[in-house]
Amino acid sequence: MSDIIRLLPDSVANQIAAGEVIQRPASAVKELLENAVDAGAGHIELIVKDAGKTLLQVIDNGCGMSATDARMSFERHATSKIKEAADLFRIHTLGFRGEALASIAAIAQVEVKTRRMEDELGTHLVIEGSVVKSQQPCACTAGTSFQIKNLFFNVPARRNFLKSDAAEMRHIMEEFQRVALVNPQIAFSCQSNGKILFQLPAANLKQRIINLVGSGFQEKLIPVNQDSNVVKISGYVGKPESAKKTKGEQYFFANNRFIRHPYLNHAVEDAFSDLLPEGYFPSYFIYLDVDPSKIDINIHPTKTEVNFLDHQVIYSMLRSAVRQAIGKFSFSSTLDFEAEKSFDTYFPKDRPVVAPGIHINPEYNPFVKKQQAELKLTAPLQQHDNTDWEKLYDVARNVHPSDQSGIKSLTIDADFDSEAISRGFMQFQNKYIVSRVKSGLMIIDQQAAHERVLYERMLEKIEQQKSSSQQQLFPQTVNLSAPDAELINELLEEFSLFGFQIEHFGQNSYIIRGIPADLVDENIQTHIENVLENFKNNQLGLKVDKKINLTRAMARNMAVKPGKVLMPEEMQSLVDDLFSCQVPNVSPSGKTIIITIQSDEIEKRFGN
Ligand code: ADP
Ligand code: MG
Repeated sequence: MSDIIRLLPDSVANQIAAGEVIQRPASAVKELLENAVDAGAGHIELIVKDAGKTLLQVIDNGCGMSATDARMSFERHATSKIKEAADLFRIHTLGFRGEALASIAAIAQVEVKTRRMEDELGTHLVIEGSVVKSQQPCACTAGTSFQIKNLFFNVPARRNFLKSDAAEMRHIMEEFQRVALVNPQIAFSCQSNGKILFQLPAANLKQRIINLVGSGFQEKLIPVNQDSNVVKISGYVGKPESAKKTKGEQYFFANNRFIRHPYLNHAVEDAFSDLLPEGYFPSYFIYLDVDPSKIDINIHPTKTEVNFLDHQVIYSMLRSAVRQAIGKFSFSSTLDFEAEKSFDTYFPKDRPVVAPGIHINPEYNPFVKKQQAELKLTAPLQQHDNTDWEKLYDVARNVHPSDQSGIKSLTIDADFDSEAISRGFMQFQNKYIVSRVKSGLMIIDQQAAHERVLYERMLEKIEQQKSSSQQQLFPQTVNLSAPDAELINELLEEFSLFGFQIEHFGQNSYIIRGIPADLVDENIQTHIENVLENFKNNQLGLKVDKKINLTRAMARNMAVKPGKVLMPEEMQSLVDDLFSCQVPNVSPSGKTIIITIQSDEIEKRFGN
């Protein structure tokens, strides 16, 4: 019997390889766009007909190719990007396997026109199913234009397998956006069936993101930055309120390449975990720069999956970078949409603004220095001589921004410094704490603020196992409903982390032998019932861990409620505590804690 092993002809080998590299029109788009980027183009145009089934064209003004290189570029393993195996570990270009063009040419009718800047004439090459049909000199602009016609014309099974135009077009857009998001310095345009879909000028990253995902993001991006010798993290995350119910805008890029990384995705989602309701996903555009030798991008042919050598370190750095970024955002000088809305609810347009008169309760005057406030607390309001009101103006004048002699200096700006807050706090509607800051007025929701403070404190204590318990002299018995009893049985261990000592006492009864040391005059039965209620509500809305959920429930129940009058000292210490929190601006249940009304806005409203 004769030998039976044969080497496959290149055209067949290429067609097989094509199955791996080019699964659908979008894969060809990705390869062509990346080649154009690697060619140093400043402008890249994508033209699509019938979702790429009829035509895909990419025109760039990059370095172009010589006639020989153009011919060579379609050979398998033909690349200008690596020369030897060692190059694999320092790759900075997007392509390097030299497979893309060979694969595309194996399954489509391809036409290339390309010219290098220094050449007078370019070259025009036609290839169909790996067979060169013609090549001749031509006059064309510097750069390269690839036309891919009738993709899979010779692989009917593949062609039939393609999805609807709308679905294939979505894939193409995805690839286009990913490439555009890593190359804001390159202008891109995209048209489909003669209609322009995107026209993206060269821009900075933030502008590029906004041009791609919509101007709604203008006010919603928080910069993330963290530099270390393991990884450089940069980019933007969307503010919690911009989270969506779909995993829409979630982008990771490693060394300028779009990647999928469920593990790192978890780091970001975890950083947002207590800020978003269940079913909501944060938006992010995160760029990781790592030493190419510490990343293996080659584990998957389409290269969106990567392995990092230091993935655990990167995980924790990413999580903390995002967390910090979220924590800082409310102090940026921009006024966000949420704040503007709230502003209107405090000062409704349809009601006349009443000028503050002498009936102001002086204790609530934000400008009064601490001793004065204390002094006045002892003097009933009616005893004030009405002519005294002038003194209020004197005090107020003392704290005019240009003269801060009578008061601690106020400098809240991009970075918050708790020292910088004025001592003057005013409670509004027994619900909000109002204070003057350098950039304008700051309004804090007292309940949400307290919830945040308690939450972070408790979480820290349970994490360090430092919660203390006060033994009950006369242990109380609580009787719960059957579902609550079932729930508490599951949570006994978590309750004990907070300092509760709860013992099952038959049926749905429990004996409470110890309670958290800082839980003061509470009806324990009500406290536990409320906490369980909050826990259940959270559970409906949030997919968080039991311990965290219980902490939130506990904090929510213990926080001061609207309607509680706060003394100036109480407001002061609440504000101080709040600003020592990691995430001072959003409550554990995702509510906005602080809004600022910029001086400019106030001036504008007065027409000044
Ligand atoms: P790879 O990108 O992995 O090197 P490709 O098959 O995508 O492999 O491309 C082969 C070669 O063709 C590239 O290495 C590059 O030299 C050249 N090439 C491809 N596209 C362009 C382009 N738009 N402009 C200039 N050269 C290109
Ligand atoms: Mg390539």
